[in-house]
Amino acid sequence: MNFNELGLSPELLQAITDTGYTTPTPIQEQAIPVVTQGRDVLGCAQTGTGKTASFALPMIDKLAAGRARARMPRSLILEPTRELATQVEASFERYGKHHRLSTALLIGGESFGDQERKLDRGVDVLIATPGRLLDLFERGKILLSDVRILVIDEADRMLDMGFIPDVERIVGFLPRTRQTLFFSATMPPEIRRLADAFLKDPVGISVAPPASPAALVEQSLIVVAPEDKRDTLRHLIASEDVKNALIFCNRKRDVDILQRSLSRHGLDAAALHGDMPQPKRTETLERFKNNEIRLLVASDVAARGLDIQGLSHVFCFDVPYHAEDYVHRIGRTGRAGRQGRSFMLASPEDGKNVAAIERLIGRAIPPFAIDGIAAAALDAEASDGRRSRRGEHRGAERRHERSPRNAEQRDRRPRRDNRPPRQEARHEPSQQPHNETHDAEVLTFPGPAGAPVAEPRRRPPREPAPDHRSEPRVVGFGDDLPAFLRRAPRVAAEA
Ligand code: AMP
Repeated sequence: MNFNELGLSPELLQAITDTGYTTPTPIQEQAIPVVTQGRDVLGCAQTGTGKTASFALPMIDKLAAGRARARMPRSLILEPTRELATQVEASFERYGKHHRLSTALLIGGESFGDQERKLDRGVDVLIATPGRLLDLFERGKILLSDVRILVIDEADRMLDMGFIPDVERIVGFLPRTRQTLFFSATMPPEIRRLADAFLKDPVGISVAPPASPAALVEQSLIVVAPEDKRDTLRHLIASEDVKNALIFCNRKRDVDILQRSLSRHGLDAAALHGDMPQPKRTETLERFKNNEIRLLVASDVAARGLDIQGLSHVFCFDVPYHAEDYVHRIGRTGRAGRQGRSFMLASPEDGKNVAAIERLIGRAIPPFAIDGIAAAALDAEASDGRRSRRGEHRGAERRHERSPRNAEQRDRRPRRDNRPPRQEARHEPSQQPHNETHDAEVLTFPGPAGAPVAEPRRRPPREPAPDHRSEPRVVGFGDDLPAFLRRAPRVAAEA
């Protein structure tokens, strides 16, 4: 099939040609006509399939007629991370270059003033992370009653990050008559429930079985002692034809440690994780994408959806705690028809986690040996203590990384009014199966027989709610006695 057959405008076809695309990808072939017709879409597709263009292209044509009013965007795209939102905005700019649509990006960590000014000028395509959007909405800077097209992208990632209550709230502010395009790489029951609630008679489109690893990635597994990992990594960087590489660690702390170690060895490496200030995150990623940095050591904040042109290698310096993260990590390479290469460095105690990954991808990852570095063997029964604790609670670092309070929502401004904090801050774990750990930190105590036990500790809510149980009840004016009542009464002298 050809792009000409999809009913797109000449301006859009020109932009597609300028971008260098010749044939539509399967999701574009299927989704573009459906979106153009105005139907809702339930898309099961991973990043790397051309999913962004599958909704962006028809949206641009649909929005071409009409103008946005101040503070009333005409379409809304919700993205789970700032990086993805930024990337989607860049796609709209590229595909819409022969149109006169205005786009705006609302993400945390950036100045409110600039975002508000853009909204005031009228926005056709608004791309936002849920936290910042709600902030601006609550402050009266944006009205959502004109949104005619809603895109919920990476819905399963939203779920993982605890954003679903925010998304549900946002959808509640939108007009009922709208077109909704809902994309998710996987369709667990919670995501199905949401799709059922948000979509009307959707057309289902599925282009890749969930969690299928990128077919174009040649994968290898190296099992070494933990103390040999850095040596192994440096050896691979030196011996493989590494043009540029993402190196994943499980914990943010380890990202920094590894980046410093690589730099000390004279390698050109930067770090990227969710605890870094947003301008630094954006700048680092830009420099990496522009090939100004060769090695990017990252947490899983970089595992999903990031589109780095021609990334030659992915190294999993740690075996991910969750098998599906492996698929996302290695999926950063082998994109857009190019061959990619991945190496996972495991220690003997990663046995169970490696087995889980191999079960998920349906095959064994071929082993790889390096001369001069002693190969170790996986212990099939092992899963190190830290890992099993994390397994129970989905990983402290990872949870922190995913916590709405950590990045996209942490930097929300304090409310100006006295409204109580948003409902989701008070969700009990039992009500939100996937959220139960998002605002918890793990405290470890020795359990029975010395086994470590993880205890979730809830962090204070974003805006602490008054704790009525710990405060004495205030009667009348309480301690705050007005001055006129403190003065001694003047008694008029009796005549
Ligand atoms: P996405 O899944 O939207 O993140 O897109 C993944 C990558 O595929 C991006 O680098 C796009 O620029 C690229 N891409 C999207 N559509 C096409 C196409 N029809 N032909 C070639 N590359 C494409």
